[in-house]
Amino acid sequence: MRKHEKQSDIKLYINGQFIEPASGVYFDNRSPFTNEVINRVAEGRKADIDKSVQAAKRAFKEGSWGTMKVSERMKYIERIADLIDEEAEELSYLESLDTGLPIAQTRNMAARAAENFRFYSRMVQTRMHGEAYLQDSEFVNYTVYSPLGVVGLITPWNAPFMLTTWKIAPALATGNTVVLKPAELSPLTANKLAEIIQKAELPEGVFNIVHGYGETAGAALVAHPDVEAISFTGETVTGSIIIKNSADTLKKTSMELGGKSPLIVFDDADLDRALDAAVWGIFSFNGERCTSNSRVFLHKNIKDQFVQALKERVQKIKIGDPMDASTQLGPLISLEHFEKVSGYIELAKEEGCEVVQGTVPEQFKAGNYVPPTLLLNATNDMRVCQEEIFGPVMAVIEFESEEEVVKAANDVKYGLAGFVWTNDIKRGHRVAQAVEAGMLWINAQNVRDLRIPFGGMKASGIGREGGHYAIMEFYTEPKVIHVAIGDHLIPQFGK
Ligand code: NAD
Repeated sequence: MRKHEKQSDIKLYINGQFIEPASGVYFDNRSPFTNEVINRVAEGRKADIDKSVQAAKRAFKEGSWGTMKVSERMKYIERIADLIDEEAEELSYLESLDTGLPIAQTRNMAARAAENFRFYSRMVQTRMHGEAYLQDSEFVNYTVYSPLGVVGLITPWNAPFMLTTWKIAPALATGNTVVLKPAELSPLTANKLAEIIQKAELPEGVFNIVHGYGETAGAALVAHPDVEAISFTGETVTGSIIIKNSADTLKKTSMELGGKSPLIVFDDADLDRALDAAVWGIFSFNGERCTSNSRVFLHKNIKDQFVQALKERVQKIKIGDPMDASTQLGPLISLEHFEKVSGYIELAKEEGCEVVQGTVPEQFKAGNYVPPTLLLNATNDMRVCQEEIFGPVMAVIEFESEEEVVKAANDVKYGLAGFVWTNDIKRGHRVAQAVEAGMLWINAQNVRDLRIPFGGMKASGIGREGGHYAIMEFYTEPKVIHVAIGDHLIPQFGK
């Protein structure tokens, strides 16, 4: 098992070079496992954003990236995927070091990050085609998809490498140039990716990273007049601020925001599988997952038996060092987040829940560990069922009828994901269609098909990523070209 090692300071990556921030200021990056400083991170601000956007604009306007043959550009994209595979173990290590996510889980994410690049290489080559119409034998009208120019990507600290590459891959594959503002709490894998991109010899300025805080670096990127679009993943409240701040420069925005997703278990469900899914869906990724099933609705006929099994499971989940391959739950990202999640557990007691938790072993007390937690006897109107806690905390709510559970599932501001467990095929479809969420799973847990749209309804987002949605509805603009193939009538004004 690898130790938690200190890392060297990291710089900004602008125009193909690792550079100091204009201010010379660095901030501390702390370990979720010990809360000690891992390294220092260059704090980018407006001046650095300006510099990175200029580099990206030059690369777009004067360079070959946006106009080179697609097959040529895809060689770079696939090279990035190959280099991620070569560095997969180091990337997983850095991700676990930075975020506290168990290494067995970050290993899967590194593999998925490489697939994000390969997938978009295939997608752009096979799905990004326009339409053509013959109009009255006089015109051929066709559409082409053009890159936007400089796009700004603003990303969160949960699953940062996988989520960041989920944006970078389609943005680059479609010919845009990129400025990435990673989350300040998880900068390590972003810079490893910059090293990979440098090694893949992408033209200078095509990909840039400015580390820093949201209110300074992030806000400057959003306000920059030469940035055509912002793709954002993060909290709902930040999403609204970004939409407001992007209005003056009329930017296109994509919003992947928070969630409070229901998992509904009917009394005819395969209870063993539903239990596995409910436990994994909230306690994997330390519960720091946008699509986690943080509200579990149990039919009254199976509630007691299901709750008993949940209680046994939370005692057995292996809490441990994120670097230990057998660890199932690690520490939360920061002390501040630990306090926020712990505060919600206290609130649950005040609101009348019975709280049942696993136990954090004594040797891990320096880390931001919140044990797997059940909030029993919850009701949907409680704050702990309405607000996103974003930790390993499952609220358990009893229901009697289908109508009642659908109403409760929808009685929340979010609408990201939902899960339905039943062996009644008609009910499964009926409930999945009635739940207000962007993504529903019936008798399945969080399986992803990269071809389908990913995103949320209501306060969980605007727009969709994934599949051809990212490349044809966000990172490009359709352009129509009308070609006369006959001598059509042109009004002869002033002749
Ligand atoms: P956050 O909103 O605090 O921060 C996200 C990013 O926005 C960071 O890089 C931050 O520096 C930046 N930022 C903050 N203020 C800004 C501003 N005023 N202008 C520009 N940028 C700004 O979110 P977080 O705490 O890092 O991430 C957790 C949240 O992300 C949760 O709500 C989770 O549900 C959500 N999330 C959603 C999805 C999805 O696909 N829907 C996926 C993962 C995470």
